[in-house]
Amino acid sequence: MMTSKNPYNGEIIEEFKEYTKEEVNKAIEKADERFKSWRKVSFSEKSKLLNNAAKELRKNQRSYAKDMTKEMGKPISQSLAEIEKCAWVCEYYAENAEDHLQNEMIETDAQKSYVSYEPLGVVLAIMPWNYPFWQVFRFAAPALMAGNIGVLKHASNVMRSAQNIQKVFENAGFPEACFQNLVISSSKIDDILKDKRVKAVTLTGSKPAGSAVAATAGSEIKKSVLELGGSNALVVFKDANIAETVKTCVQARFQNTGQSCIAGKRLLLHESIEEEFMQEFLKQARELKSGDPMDEDTYIGTLAREDLAEDLEKQVNESVKQGAKVILGGKRDKAYFEPTILTNVTKEMAVFTEETFGPVISVTTFKESQEAIDLVNYSDFGLGVSIFTEDFDFAEEIVPEFEDGAVFINELVKSDPRLPFGGTKISGYGRELSSHGIQEFVNRKTVYFN
Ligand code: NDP
Repeated sequence: MMTSKNPYNGEIIEEFKEYTKEEVNKAIEKADERFKSWRKVSFSEKSKLLNNAAKELRKNQRSYAKDMTKEMGKPISQSLAEIEKCAWVCEYYAENAEDHLQNEMIETDAQKSYVSYEPLGVVLAIMPWNYPFWQVFRFAAPALMAGNIGVLKHASNVMRSAQNIQKVFENAGFPEACFQNLVISSSKIDDILKDKRVKAVTLTGSKPAGSAVAATAGSEIKKSVLELGGSNALVVFKDANIAETVKTCVQARFQNTGQSCIAGKRLLLHESIEEEFMQEFLKQARELKSGDPMDEDTYIGTLAREDLAEDLEKQVNESVKQGAKVILGGKRDKAYFEPTILTNVTKEMAVFTEETFGPVISVTTFKESQEAIDLVNYSDFGLGVSIFTEDFDFAEEIVPEFEDGAVFINELVKSDPRLPFGGTKISGYGRELSSHGIQEFVNRKTVYFN
């Protein structure tokens, strides 16, 4: 049984019977069968269906959002925004996929030679609970438009959302089995990856999950895309606009109750602005409203599961033992974790080296720009970095110094259907979104006419 449990009040919401081996086999058989016809469907027909999915999302926005909030404690206003963003990614690929996958003509000795982008077949998506809808849609929208078939293994604690997503595609009119949710635990993944009918895999989640899945995919010579954790830095240089930067940094760290791979987890401040910055940052962090995730004005909900809050508590306590100072919060109550600010953080501490997946920010100061760059790159993660400065020439100059997959200047790192998204180092490989994302799960076929 897979159980959805409300982390805010501990209530069991719903239980889901896990698929048997036969049921999994049947689902993959249907998916594989569907691929034979889906791969030939025109872009205009696929676009129509994906636009229908966007409409379907908006039609049921509140009910899907409520289910998400109940299952994982995300404040309702943020759940509603997540559904809207899913509609956006559907519309984006409905409009742009054909362009992204045009034949690429290349002049050679041939009469005609080009690259065509053709679908691979059934792609397995292993997804996490932090953005139960968005993580899935940013895979599914491009994958379906490319002519692939999606099978989803969603996180065990958000099965209602997973079922709702399947319903979106069914109600939008997609042919049966274009997109199916498999109600399974991760113990079934290995067999699925070894199945010849499954051609590739994408995973968003932790490093252990990513490395287990990539190992099997590697041994089967199957393409994988990994979008794993991050420990993004927010680097504030001395010429930054403090008022604007504080606002952005509060949002970068605390939205989604801090449970985001691209959240700004390490605040690096030039020592000359530390006092002024922290005064305002502390004030704004204090004002964040914790409460019932179902209330429209709640900004901080609970973490998605109690064990995740316990892990965060350990990281905070360990760092405090190492010399970090708590200037706000620091306490846990079941799955709730107070917005927390730790100062005096050094690069040896757990909150600096590990990913903190909750509303905890670590603060470190620097003197020289090079020191800031070294602190950013010291992390094993490489998803993204935000730098705050009014000097764009200086920003351009230091962009190449960062090892991350993204550098945002005077903005929090965020995903946008029009821009590629993904990491380096242990944050994973491959890209999602934009033309780069849709070209991950395709056969780039070389065609040559003599
Ligand atoms: P996991 O990485 O364990 O879960 C993500 C997905 O992977 C789930 O669908 C999970 O299924 C599946 N999974 C887990 N282990 C395996 C495996 N060995 N083989 C195949 N699939 C697997 O995340 P957790 O929920 O345990 O969260 C732990 C930490 O991971 C967080 O604190 C955070 O640091 C990081 N994380 C990062 C995310 C991101 O956006 N990059 C999102 C979520 C977590 P099941 O639920 O059934 O275990």
